[in-house]
Amino acid sequence: KLHNTVQELKGNIRVFCRVRPLLKEELQNNGDSDVIHHINFLDEHTLEVGKGDINSSTMSGLKGRGNNSFEFSYDRVFNPSATQAEVFEDISQLSQSALDGYNVCIFAYGQTGSGKTYTMEGMQGDEALEGMIPRTVKHIFRALEELKEKCWTYKLEASFLEIYNETIRDLLATPKEAKSLSYEIKLQDNKKNEIYVTNLKSVPVEDERKLHTLLSMAQQQRAVAATCMNDHSSRSHSIFRLKIVGENWKTTESCEGTLSLVDLAGSERLKESKSEGARLTETQNINRSLADLGNVLMALGQKQNHIPYRNSKLTYLLQNSLGGNSKTLMFVNVSPLESCFNETLNSLRFATKVN
Ligand code: ADP
Ligand code: MG
Repeated sequence: KLHNTVQELKGNIRVFCRVRPLLKEELQNNGDSDVIHHINFLDEHTLEVGKGDINSSTMSGLKGRGNNSFEFSYDRVFNPSATQAEVFEDISQLSQSALDGYNVCIFAYGQTGSGKTYTMEGMQGDEALEGMIPRTVKHIFRALEELKEKCWTYKLEASFLEIYNETIRDLLATPKEAKSLSYEIKLQDNKKNEIYVTNLKSVPVEDERKLHTLLSMAQQQRAVAATCMNDHSSRSHSIFRLKIVGENWKTTESCEGTLSLVDLAGSERLKESKSEGARLTETQNINRSLADLGNVLMALGQKQNHIPYRNSKLTYLLQNSLGGNSKTLMFVNVSPLESCFNETLNSLRFATKVN
C-alpha cells in the first residue's frame, strides 16, 4: 500500500529488476564459489549487492553494512528462480492498458549477457520459456475474445525495427526491400502529432501463429547482420511495436493504443579511447542514446517542461510512448557474475535514477 503511494508521487515510470541465474557453462567454469551469494534478496522490492562476501563485511561495516555493499529498491525485484510466467504476471495489467487506449512501453536495460533478450523474446519453441513479447500478444488475443461480447472489434498491426548506429532497419522487410528503401523518422503534422517511420512495414497480426512467423523473420534478419559483425545485436536497439485499434460497432466509440517492447543495446560502458573511426562513432552513438533515454525518463519523472526527445533516434521514435498518455516500465537486467559487478552497479544506479 505504502509502495503504491510512493509510486503515484514518482509518476508513471516503473522499474523491475531481474537477476538472471548462473548458466551451466558458467557453473562449470567457476565452480560454485563465484557469485550469487554477493546478491541478497531482502524482499520483493529490495536487493543488496556487494563485492565479495556481504555477510562477513557486515560485521565490520559502517551503518551495519559492509563498505562494499549497496542496497537498491525498485517496484519489483525478481531473483534468478523467477519464471517467465511469474515475471509476466506483474506486467499483464500493462498489456490490458494498451487495449484501453494507452501507449505502453516496456524496456529491457542491462549489459550484454544480462538477460534482456531472454526476458523480452525468451526461447522460441518452448512455451514455458516464452518471453514478454509472445506472452503479451497472447494475453491481448485472449482479452479481445472477451471484448467481442461487448461489441468491440479490434485490429492489430505489428512492426519490428532496429536502430543501429543511429540508422533504422526494418526487421520485417526482406533484405532486398530493406536495401532499396530508406527509413526516416517523421513527425506527422496532424492533431495527434504522431511519430512514424517512413516505409516501415506494418503487418496485420490475426493470430498467435502470425506473431511467431514475424518473430522468426526478425531473428533471421538479425542473424544476417550478425555475420557481418559479431556483436551486432548487442550494439543495436530493437523495437517491437503493436498497434491496437478498437471500434465498438454498437456505440461507435473507438480507441487506439500501442504497445512497444524495446530490447536496448548493451549498456556496458564502451571505452571511446579504445576505438577509432567508424567504431568510435558507433561507440559514441550507443553511449549517447542510452544516456539520452535516461535523461528523457528523468525529465519525465521530474515533470520538467522540456523533455529532450529529439536528441537521439530512440527517444524521438518513442516520443508518443513516453510521457503524456503512456505507461512505462523498465526492466533492469543484471548478471549474477562477480566479474560483472561494476556493470551491475552501473545498471542498478541508472535504474534508480529514472525510477
Ligand atoms: P542479453 O540479451 O542481455 O545480451 P541474453 O538474453 O541473450 O542477454 O542472455 C544471456 C544468456 O543467459 C542466454 O544464454 C540466455 O538464454 C541466458 N538467460 C538469461 N536470462 C535467463 C533466465 N532468467 N533464465 C535462464 N537463462 C537465462
Ligand atoms: Mg540480446
